[in-house]
Amino acid sequence: MTMCPVCGYRCLPDDVFDHGICPSCGTEFGYDDVTLTHEALRLEWLAKGGEWFDKSITPPSSWDPVADVVATFYKPRLASISRPVRTEFRVDKMMTDVETKVLPVAS
Ligand SMILES: [Zn+2]
Repeated sequence: MTMCPVCGYRCLPDDVFDHGICPSCGTEFGYDDVTLTHEALRLEWLAKGGEWFDKSITPPSSWDPVADVVATFYKPRLASISRPVRTEFRVDKMMTDVETKVLPVAS
């Protein structure tokens, strides 16, 4: 099993990068990711609502596209900050960008 570099779904077959399709975000590897980066594909997928792609497969009960993306791709970037922080994550009104904010923890 391997993880999708676009959406963070963790149950992909190991050969998915040979033109396999992620059931979560619908990325076809070797096709969709030839012209767009994984991050660009991720933002595009979330901007369209982050829906589960493969309707023939039931998503895991714990599946949460935004929470999974934040935990997998954005929280690690904050790990080097030494003071305590909380994070805020939102998709903007125009659904064109995803923003992460680092906010001081209220004491
Ligand atoms: Zn995916």
